[in-house]
Amino acid sequence: MPKVIENVGCPYCGCSCDDVRVTVSDDGKDILEVENVCAIGTEIFKHGCSKDRIKLPRLRQPDGSMKEISYDEAIEWTARHLIKAKKPLMYGFGSTNCEGQAAAARVMEISGGMLDNCATICHGPSFLAIFDNGYPTCTLGEVKNRADVIVYWGSNPAHAHPRHMSRYSIFPRGFFTGKGQKKRTVIVIDPRFTDTANVADYHLQVKQGHDYELFNAFRMVVNGHGDDLPDEVAGIKKETILEVAEIMKNARFGTTFFGMGLTHSDGRNHNIDIAISLTRDLNKVSKWTIMAMRGHYNIAGPGVVWSWTFGFPYCLDLTKQNHAHMNPGETSSVDMAMRDEVDMFINIGTDAGAHFPYPAVKQLKKHPWVTIDPSINMASEISDLHIPVCICGVDVGGIVYRMDNVPIQFRKVIEPPEGVMDDETLLNKIADRMEELIAKGEA
Ligand code: SF4
Repeated sequence: MPKVIENVGCPYCGCSCDDVRVTVSDDGKDILEVENVCAIGTEIFKHGCSKDRIKLPRLRQPDGSMKEISYDEAIEWTARHLIKAKKPLMYGFGSTNCEGQAAAARVMEISGGMLDNCATICHGPSFLAIFDNGYPTCTLGEVKNRADVIVYWGSNPAHAHPRHMSRYSIFPRGFFTGKGQKKRTVIVIDPRFTDTANVADYHLQVKQGHDYELFNAFRMVVNGHGDDLPDEVAGIKKETILEVAEIMKNARFGTTFFGMGLTHSDGRNHNIDIAISLTRDLNKVSKWTIMAMRGHYNIAGPGVVWSWTFGFPYCLDLTKQNHAHMNPGETSSVDMAMRDEVDMFINIGTDAGAHFPYPAVKQLKKHPWVTIDPSINMASEISDLHIPVCICGVDVGGIVYRMDNVPIQFRKVIEPPEGVMDDETLLNKIADRMEELIAKGEA
């Protein structure tokens, strides 16, 4: 009899939806149906039970081809290269569980290398602003139950977080928001007329790269200097700024969700810094919160796990071995790659081959490159060694942190392909082997 599994987690975006229903075949190997999941999530589950999954590690041969090797051989290769490297970098972690992230911290502590996650090319600027200015945030449940004004600034959930609007922000009827969308005012601030802007009450088509000025204008109004505004700021008319600022001030509970439109454009951390300042200003007259639209389902995880372990969320320098150091710009993955400072690269739970700037990939490619990933991707295709692992939320469970830092227990729904390890097991075996080699003086 096929089995229905409820409350399954979707391992794709930062919404970390945990209301997915999966119907699994009698033998526990096939996924027959997935419900309550968006199109992106559906593909993850379909891919998870595909018969083409990689089952054995593959090592690059002198003629450029890849040859299957055993897990033991792959662990040995990785352990020895990590010990030999002076400054190895392990990067990724958006798509694995917290248990894997903790095991990775152990590996890099032993090897004395650099440990970084996808925040470095995503919401890293948000971290910098939060260090400077605090984080007046909330949970998504509070947004659902209380928020009557929603701002999406530089983010497009209709495409990047497809169920965000229906689960948390615009459409759900919450405890104090029983009328759902009807009683919510939605403001989208984006240079493009996106599908998210299409469902908003207000679309402020800010000039690309001029968000900082627009934040300043809103702060002027909230602080009582609206009359001094010029006729237009960042492409937005003064009357519109005054009207929208009035809605913000009169909110019962407002939330600003922000994304790559702010972290990837001119100003970066300063855009977030001033967004936080506006949130603080609004809290003098209303109740306002702010939240980063974190990308992957567990990209908040390494920030939490490594803060507990080392005191820093990303860009960790563990080379001193007895204390950690963090200084984005100096210890961030792309910066180190561009300066050719690292001499081994481990890509795990991400695809740096596809998403790093090409000059950074070229530099990293000069050195041994290991990819730990369930699937073939750009990183695996340019690797010296590709080690397949389980897919979190599909064939292994674990803890993940949603975009609002709420931990969620993801379930395993099917059996992994025979012999395939999960990240935690693999990384702990690499750590064990490194300790053995160091103890024997063989490294
Ligand atoms: S919104 Fe995100 S977490 Fe939810 S089902 Fe879609 S991809 Fe998965």
